[in-house]
Amino acid sequence: MQSCIDVNLSNSQLKNLAQMAKDWIIMHGAGMRSKNNFNEDQIQIVPFLLLPSCYPRKEFESAKEVQILLNELMHNVAHDYDFLTNTLKNTIEVDTFTSKLFNIYQLVHSEGFIQPISLGLIRSDYLLHKDIGNKIKQVEVNMIASSFGGLAPIISEYHKFILTELGYKDKVKNIPENNATLGLSNGLIEAWKMYNNKKAIILFIVEDITYNILDQRAIEFKIYDLNSEIKIIRRSLTELIMQARLGSDKELFVDDIEVAVIYYRSGYQLEAYPSENEWNVRLLLERSRAIKCPSIQYHLAGTKKIQQELSIPGVLEKFISDSNKIIKIRQIFMGIYALDFNEDGEKAIAMGLKNSHNYVLKPQREGGGNNIYNDKIKDQLEVMKHSKDRTAWILMERIYPPILKNYLIHTGNNDLKIQEFNSELGVYGVVMGYKSRIIHNTQVGHILRTKLSSANEGGIIFGFGALDSPYIV
Ligand code: ADP
Ligand code: MG
Ligand code: MG
Repeated sequence: MQSCIDVNLSNSQLKNLAQMAKDWIIMHGAGMRSKNNFNEDQIQIVPFLLLPSCYPRKEFESAKEVQILLNELMHNVAHDYDFLTNTLKNTIEVDTFTSKLFNIYQLVHSEGFIQPISLGLIRSDYLLHKDIGNKIKQVEVNMIASSFGGLAPIISEYHKFILTELGYKDKVKNIPENNATLGLSNGLIEAWKMYNNKKAIILFIVEDITYNILDQRAIEFKIYDLNSEIKIIRRSLTELIMQARLGSDKELFVDDIEVAVIYYRSGYQLEAYPSENEWNVRLLLERSRAIKCPSIQYHLAGTKKIQQELSIPGVLEKFISDSNKIIKIRQIFMGIYALDFNEDGEKAIAMGLKNSHNYVLKPQREGGGNNIYNDKIKDQLEVMKHSKDRTAWILMERIYPPILKNYLIHTGNNDLKIQEFNSELGVYGVVMGYKSRIIHNTQVGHILRTKLSSANEGGIIFGFGALDSPYIV
């Protein structure tokens, strides 16, 4: 697949256009702090694609449609104690991070959840699979700290602008509406209303240093725009060691202000818990009456091990009763295999060793940069073949997405050249509810993250990937 937008520009025209594009992006706030040259007062443009990337309409619509089914699925999975416990049993024996989360879950579950409502701001990610005619296949679903919803609409608007600038005003209609920031903000507001105490605030749990600051601020400021009664504070888990406490009725207080909603933008990686004290804070938050986004059970439902279990034929049926819904969900799954010590596990190891290029080997991690590809899969499997450690990994069939041509723009790149990319579509969902009753279930927008086709993964903060938006064809 080539770019579906023809641009025939001289080098100097291209250079001017790129400069204008950067200025537009700065003006509209699609920026982040630099990892290399960190300075909290300095923002640089988020890496982005000069032109939007073509995306097949039917697949885009399927990804949007399936979101509310996934919201329902994840909600139901999260509330099945036996399923979470049995599925994660082997994983928690060898994976410290998952085991720490699970311990919190078990404790809070045994005490009884003081807050019956969970909130999820979810992002389900897809690649188009070339081998089956460019159909969407799910890469993973993120239940915690789903990012870029605050910047996604800016990129969509930018692509409308650049098409107009290029003389393609008639093509602007092919850039779909994108209200991700609004939708995610509304989710948090709905939860705040459910808590039903106008004096209580929303607490963003953040890293000690936040690179993707504007993405978070976009949601924070949107909430202020929408509802001036709400106050938001940002704290790291480390700061909360001294600042958070529970009241007599399990209310969460931070600096003596009651918290209605906890929104985790950190806490999904081991590094967020430098000492046992941060884990104790996580436990305290989970024990509190505040509505958590996500609750500990939502968080665990988003692990890769759970994704693997759900891909086994017959498992979806436990959580979704409507067979049409099951078919729609099943269609987006790739084969994912456990590496347990049994016949199936041995089979999976053998497949991974034989045809490494057809798989991705994944640990129980989030945030990018953790997976293993190609020949390194063989090395890793050989190393852990006889160790229990292998049960913390899953082997997923590899999706090979189509290649598109485009121009990558990022800070310091003045040498614009056409390069080959592929794109991962993320769709945002908001779900909220009690164990047996969902009270809010919506699909709220999308993001395209595009990376050089030569890279296995495209971390945007790390500079391998860029923000993009789909151009529907
Ligand atoms: P994380 O939680 O770290 O983001 P992902 O499962 O999303 O974990 O994997 C990170 C990246 O690895 C994805 O964005 C994608 O580029 C690549 N990847 C993951 N699974 C596959 C797959 N099955 N086929 C091809 N690429 C994949
Ligand atoms: Mg993830
Ligand atoms: Mg991912």
